[in-house]
Amino acid sequence: MSNALAPRLIDPFARAITYLRVSVTDRCDFRCVYCMSENMTFLPKKELLTLEELDRMCSTFIGLGVEKLRITGGEPLVRRGIMTFFDAMSRHLDSGALKELTVTTNGSQLDRFATDLYAAGVRRINVSLDTLDAAKFERVTRWGKLDKVLSGIDAARKAGLRVKINTVALKGFNEDELFSLTDWCAREDMDLTFIEVMPMGDLGNEDRVGQYWALDDLRAQLATQFTLTDLTERTGGPARYIRLEETGQKIGLITPLTHNFCESCNRVRMTCTGELYMCLGQEDNASLRDILRASPEDDAPLIAAIEAAILRKPKGHDFDYSRQKADGQVSRHMSHTGG
Ligand code: SAM
Ligand code: SF4
Repeated sequence: MSNALAPRLIDPFARAITYLRVSVTDRCDFRCVYCMSENMTFLPKKELLTLEELDRMCSTFIGLGVEKLRITGGEPLVRRGIMTFFDAMSRHLDSGALKELTVTTNGSQLDRFATDLYAAGVRRINVSLDTLDAAKFERVTRWGKLDKVLSGIDAARKAGLRVKINTVALKGFNEDELFSLTDWCAREDMDLTFIEVMPMGDLGNEDRVGQYWALDDLRAQLATQFTLTDLTERTGGPARYIRLEETGQKIGLITPLTHNFCESCNRVRMTCTGELYMCLGQEDNASLRDILRASPEDDAPLIAAIEAAILRKPKGHDFDYSRQKADGQVSRHMSHTGG
C-alpha cells in the first residue's frame, strides 16, 4: 500500500478510523418502542445536511482514509432523494478509495429501492427485524407492517443484495422466537445478529431495563439445541460471532454494554446535522456542519476539525447495567446517532 493510501485518521490509542456510520435523517416511518417515543419532534429541515453537504462530508472522510461507509438513520430510505446520494458515493467505490457502501434499514422501502441500491454498488445490507409475528411486529414498531418488510427483503435478495438480519433481544417479547428466527435465517441463507438493548434517550413510559435480555442468556438457550463454536473473527465493532455446528450458521452477538470491543474500535458516527460522535456511549461530539458551511470552496478547515475530533476519541464508553440501573445512559436516541 502506498503512503498516500495509508489511513490518516489515527486516534490517541493508535486505532485507525476507517469506518464511518452516517445518519442521513432523524425521521422514520416506524416508531420502535426501544428507539423512539410515539410523538417525536423532528429537526427543522435547515438543520440537516443537504444531500450535497452529505456528499462533501463523506467524501472528505474517504479522502482521510475511511473505507467503509454505512448509511443509517432514522430510516435512511425515507429521506427524499437519497438514491442521488448513493449514486454519488458509488464514484468512490469505482475509484477503489471506498471498499464498502452499505445501509442499515427497517426494510419498509426495499421494494422500491433494492435494485437502485445494487446499481449504486451496495452489496450487503442490514435489515432490522425483531419478530416474524405480524401482530407483535406492529406492537414493537408501532407503525410497521411485517408483510411490507418481508417483501422488501425478498426484493433485496432478488436484486442480488446479501441480507443480514439484526434483531434486538427483548425480554418477554421475542425470547420465544429465538429458534424460529434462527431457523428462518438458516433456510433463507441470511446472517443473523442479536443486539442487546441499549439505554438510549428518554422514551416516556417504556421500561428499558425491564426489556433487557442478556445475550449470555440467549447464548445459553441456543446451546440447548446447537453445538456452539466461538469464532475469533472481529470486525472492529461490538459483535462477537458463534457458529452453530449443526447448520453451519454464523450468529452475531452485539453486546454494546460490555467494554470488550472498545480496544479494537475503528469507527465514528455522524448525525444528520453533521455532529461527529467519536464514541457511541459518550456525549462528546464535534459539530462539523457550520465549519463545512463556512468554507464552501476549501475543505482544509473541515479536515482540520475532523482530525482534531479524532484526537478526542475516548478509549471506551461507560454503560453499566450491573445494578439494574442504566448508569452511563446517554440522553440522545439511537435514531439521532444512527445505531
Ligand atoms: N431505521 C433503521 C433500522 O431500524 O435498521 C436504521 C436506524 S436504527 C436506529 C439502527 C439499529 O439500531 C436498528 O437495528 C435498531 O434495532 C437498533 N436500535 C435502536 N434503538 C436501540 C436500542 N435502544 N438498543 C439497541 N438497539 C437499538
Ligand atoms: Fe425507525 Fe430504525 Fe428507530 Fe425503528 S429502530 S424507530 S425503524 S430508526
